[in-house]
Amino acid sequence: MAITLERITPLRGLRCRACQVLQPADTRYICAECYGPVEPEYDLAASDANALREKIARGPHSLWRYADLLPVAEPASHFPVGWTPLVRAPRLGAAIGIANLFIKDDSRNPSLSFKDRPVAVALARALELGLDTIACASTGNLAGAVAAAAARNGLRAFVFVPATTDEGKIAGAAAYGATVVRVLGTYDQVNRLCARLADEEGWGFVNFTLRPYYAEGSKTILFECAEQLDWRLPDHVVVPVGSGALLTRTATAAAQLRQTGLVDDTPFRIHAAQPAGCAPVSDAVLDGYREVRPVRDPNTVARSLAIGAPADGDGSVGIIRASGGSAASVSDAEVQGACALLASTEGVLAEPAGGVVVAAAKALATRDVFDDNGSVVLYITGNGYKGTLDAGLLKPPIAADADEFRAAYAEVLG
Ligand SMILES: *Cc1c(COP(=O)(O)O)cnc(C)c1O
Ligand SMILES: [Zn+2]
Repeated sequence: MAITLERITPLRGLRCRACQVLQPADTRYICAECYGPVEPEYDLAASDANALREKIARGPHSLWRYADLLPVAEPASHFPVGWTPLVRAPRLGAAIGIANLFIKDDSRNPSLSFKDRPVAVALARALELGLDTIACASTGNLAGAVAAAAARNGLRAFVFVPATTDEGKIAGAAAYGATVVRVLGTYDQVNRLCARLADEEGWGFVNFTLRPYYAEGSKTILFECAEQLDWRLPDHVVVPVGSGALLTRTATAAAQLRQTGLVDDTPFRIHAAQPAGCAPVSDAVLDGYREVRPVRDPNTVARSLAIGAPADGDGSVGIIRASGGSAASVSDAEVQGACALLASTEGVLAEPAGGVVVAAAKALATRDVFDDNGSVVLYITGNGYKGTLDAGLLKPPIAADADEFRAAYAEVLG
């Protein structure tokens, strides 16, 4: 049952990241002064850590247990999004050389990716505003999350994806009843089309007009990790980077956890994981934390991370540097090998973005980035059961014959 207490950390307004002006949290989504990006800001000093911890512990088993640290209240009808397992991964850790390894298994959300988190918060805002249509530009997973949330709430949905998007992902979005628009072009071209439609159609575009709320939903993955570690930050987190919203809001979440006194101010390093075929953020970090240079033609099996011009790219580089973090970029072969390794050592079947994180963690371990022996959390953000996996591991079928089985599988039988 929901317990209604007064909000412990009141929302102060929306702060412009460019000109710093604080403005009311009305229907705006960009700064009225300079059109810069705005972010919700809270009155965190006013909070009482023990009261807040107790209130969270009594809350729902979903991301809405952190409603006091979010810009909108829990809507009446929603999926149980979030509150996913944080599990120790000793066998994977032994295989990639990390002693104190954890997996945050966010592949278990309702539409099988972490995108259900930002969409839950964006959708709550869309309902507050009385919108009847939500939309997005997507590399695959966001389409499913938007489509599912719209179906659950009786809203109309339009999702725009590059024509090369994994079919398993967009078939799901279509089954949820969304209008799936496949566009000939890269994600960045889809993005530009949608930025224009967002202005002209008046829909709730989760990653444009609702972006300040959408991005806040990404904070909840770190809130959960901290609570699951008995209110302590991990020493390291390895984050897959597409637009950079998840990485930058992981830092926002850590700052809020510290400011409210929910966790102590222990070292917390944020590392980026990207595929070599689209690594604008990792390349910038490894090249001395320089400015991000857009990648014109992303080419990777990790299509959910194929964003050549990330909206929060420079922000991500700055945050990684400030946290003392690093980055890695990994080849498609390493990604596929790492997906299989994660599945066979820990029983977690991830999409290629998960393989990017595992392979990047291995590369970081080789460079002694984790030699403090601290805890390392890998964000596994998408599920392998969406038609994104390499079928190359399969052997040809056999006749229904015991001898043929023994002959074909002699190697496995030993
Ligand atoms: C979108 C996505 C990401 C990256 O999220 P951003 O906030 O865009 O950086 C990571 N993993 C998966 C599976 C995704 O779908
Ligand atoms: Zn501004």
